[in-house]
Amino acid sequence: PVRVRFCPSPTGNPHVGLVRTALFNWAFARHHGGTLVFRIEDTDAARDSEDSYNQLLDSMRWLGFDWDEGPEVGGPHAPYRQSQRMDIYKDVADKLLAGGYAYHCYCTTEELDTRRDAARAAGKPSGYDGHCRELSAEQIAAYEAEGRTSIVRFRMPDEALTFTDLVRGELTFQPENVPDYGIVRANGAPLYTLVNPVDDALMEITHVLRGEDLLSSTPRQLALYKALIELGIAKDTPAFGHLPYVMGEGNKKLSKRDPQASLNLYRERGFLPEGLLNYLSLLGWSIAEDRDIFSIEEMVAAFDIEDVNANPARFDLKKCEHINAEHIRKMDVKAFTEACGPWLKAPFAPWAPESFDAEQFAEIAPHAQTRVTVLSDITANVDFLFLDEPATDEASWTKAMKEGSDALLATARAKLADAEWNADALKNAILAAGEEHGLKLGKAQAPVRVAVTGRTIGLPLFESLEILGREKTLARVDAALA
Ligand code: GLU
Repeated sequence: PVRVRFCPSPTGNPHVGLVRTALFNWAFARHHGGTLVFRIEDTDAARDSEDSYNQLLDSMRWLGFDWDEGPEVGGPHAPYRQSQRMDIYKDVADKLLAGGYAYHCYCTTEELDTRRDAARAAGKPSGYDGHCRELSAEQIAAYEAEGRTSIVRFRMPDEALTFTDLVRGELTFQPENVPDYGIVRANGAPLYTLVNPVDDALMEITHVLRGEDLLSSTPRQLALYKALIELGIAKDTPAFGHLPYVMGEGNKKLSKRDPQASLNLYRERGFLPEGLLNYLSLLGWSIAEDRDIFSIEEMVAAFDIEDVNANPARFDLKKCEHINAEHIRKMDVKAFTEACGPWLKAPFAPWAPESFDAEQFAEIAPHAQTRVTVLSDITANVDFLFLDEPATDEASWTKAMKEGSDALLATARAKLADAEWNADALKNAILAAGEEHGLKLGKAQAPVRVAVTGRTIGLPLFESLEILGREKTLARVDAALA
């Protein structure tokens, strides 16, 4: 059975790369009827906070992910927060030391630096040189007497390591490129290099799917796994698949600090989780050559790790917005109306709640649904209904009000006043007013639109006027003429 894990460090606002990793693991688990383990890698007390942990869980829930084992749901390998598993890591480190798979290293940072610089200058591999691999009892006693502290280092095998990456195919690492590495700090704190594979082993993970930035730790983990199997701690080595880099502006790796990378930004702008996930799934994967829009269920049905492409993926905000817009179009109108809720309240909508009218909103919503890209677009599109006076800006006004606009508006005012109050009749009224002034419909509606809605672009004008009502429409045209 497939067992995959999503194991972020809770270090603040999740970024889109992390979300893609979660998505691919989740989709892989669901596709294969497997188990998704959600593990929190919070061993770095300096960086991890309770706040970040809560944010992370909230983000996962918002995205619609569920997990079979982990925080809030528990499971046979609990606890799922590494900060609560310290005894386990200590025990495994002791066993690795006792079995000779790891050793105490007394080298100071200065010594390491000096030897590394010398190796570099001589054109030799500059990783850890194995200095403390075979210390005698006397040497150890002497170091201890000096008051030196030690870290625990894992002893890498002296042979090349080959494995088949699920995304990239066969990869080989030469031993000089993968030196012995630290697994426990001098203060006793276990490092990622230990806790991550140990938990993968104990939680019986079968597939490790993660970002390409972690590829360099894979040979180390494979060697550690071998030791864990020999010690009877692990059963099998998992398969590994490394997801391609996500490139941002200027073809540089999308960085956590890049504003486009922040999940919160997408939430605040009113992306739909389905829209965002649809887009993120395309970063390294595709459902079919000519298909960009699909549901999460369709993705799960089609997703497999072998189909992930090893080439770097380019993050394209415009495309992400376009896909989100398509998902908005597909919503049930009632669901759309409800989803707009947060943007029809303070702080987005200064006129709410006093001037908000839910019935009027329900009438305009279908017209907005076909036009907004993200849900937050809704506020500016409908505010003309709820503001006492439209939010006109200078630039729109000058753009729409040309010479002769006053005369046109006066004619339009008269015709609107006599019209039956429905979109068709209102269109005919403006059409007729335009004809009297030698203007086509498009030109004739521009001043009416800015007078009534305050903007030069917006929802279909005649439906807007119908919903706003005769009284307010006429009053606004009068105000524009005054
Ligand atoms: N906590 C690690 C990270 O967020 C997990 C890496 C892994 O998937 O092995 O980078």
